[in-house]
Amino acid sequence: MRGPTQAAGHGGDGEEMKKQQSPETVVAQAAGHVEAASRGLAPGIFPATTYERDPDMSLPGGAVYSRDDNPGFDVAEEMLCRLERGAEAMLFASGMAAAASLFKALRHGDRVILPRVMYFALQVWVEGFAERFGLRVELVGNDAADYIAALSREPARLVWVETPSNPLWTVTDIAAVAQACKACGATLTVDNTVPTPVLTRPLELGADIVMHSATKALNGHSDVLAGALVTGNADDPLWQGAKEERRLAGAVIGPFEAWLLARGMRTLFVRMERAMQNAAALAEWLVTRDDVAAVLYPGLPDHPGHAVAARQMVGGFGTMLSIRTGGGEARARAVKGQLQLFRRATSLGGVESLVEHRRTVEGPTSQAPDDLLRLSVGIEALEDLRADLAQALSATAWNETSEKDGE
Ligand SMILES: *Cc1c(COP(=O)(O)O)cnc(C)c1O
Repeated sequence: MRGPTQAAGHGGDGEEMKKQQSPETVVAQAAGHVEAASRGLAPGIFPATTYERDPDMSLPGGAVYSRDDNPGFDVAEEMLCRLERGAEAMLFASGMAAAASLFKALRHGDRVILPRVMYFALQVWVEGFAERFGLRVELVGNDAADYIAALSREPARLVWVETPSNPLWTVTDIAAVAQACKACGATLTVDNTVPTPVLTRPLELGADIVMHSATKALNGHSDVLAGALVTGNADDPLWQGAKEERRLAGAVIGPFEAWLLARGMRTLFVRMERAMQNAAALAEWLVTRDDVAAVLYPGLPDHPGHAVAARQMVGGFGTMLSIRTGGGEARARAVKGQLQLFRRATSLGGVESLVEHRRTVEGPTSQAPDDLLRLSVGIEALEDLRADLAQALSATAWNETSEKDGE
């Protein structure tokens, strides 16, 4: 929960030099943390739940109780803070716990704006919570213009953006929404799980808070459930409320999970770069096939969000894409069933490639078309991934002309 200036760096490293370090360097070196007792070059794991006081009641170690503080959290929190260029970062037990803590900090009657296309479980949870606790929720289209129109009708307290958003990879112009939020005093939170700070830094675009499911690409190995919030302004009352949610209501991460997350983040840049090369190459190859009805990837020039994505995502368009297989749900399920290498599983951002039929998972209110398969692209060899998709598509014959003939 500490800001970058408070966390322990290695000796002799001037603050100026530290500020100039590239994010790649910061994460590769775990923000310079060494284990204090042994000078071990890997950060420590601190399982203690409580910390000893001196006879005068002072706390020489600084920490009281592990729901409040754990020196192990500082490593991942500082890495995230510096990646997002924030003032303060906080780890949570999961991405959902991180997000929920902000909504729980709202007051009865507050108005919140969410996009129609977003991480489905969060939308469902917010709608149920809002009904019980008297929040007023409006769902809007994912374009900045839709947010601006909703805010000009009536200001809001909290505005939520997810971009590119699950599972259509629609793109929202963060800077444009941020401007409208500033004008009416709304707090803008951006779910930055999918692009990660490797590609997008929402705080620099005017957002107030960044949320992460660190379960995904930040950790990257599909073996930790974790969430995080990063703020540009630690005095924000919503931030203070989220802090209470962690410290008092206990939405806190475990010491082993915090350590695994920091370890996973050290390779964030190389994983993202490799997976992104794979995703972009697969998208470009898939659009050339006449047995795929559509490819949804912000890196493709005809994607509706391409121009905004090209401005706001620096260095690439991410590791996530969806395909519409044509032939309705039956073809989508057939293709998914034939895949050998893409694992049939939910989640995203791991080193292994995954495929999922989102409509089945999200249910009847899903915004996902019935022939949509979501692909989370990993770091395997491109030719293996391409061969797997090629055999699955070929084995489940369908093509655009046969569909048109049949109409
Ligand atoms: C997974 C995910 C979440 C939820 O995070 P958990 O760590 O699973 O609780 C929120 N937003 C996005 C975009 C996600 O992919």
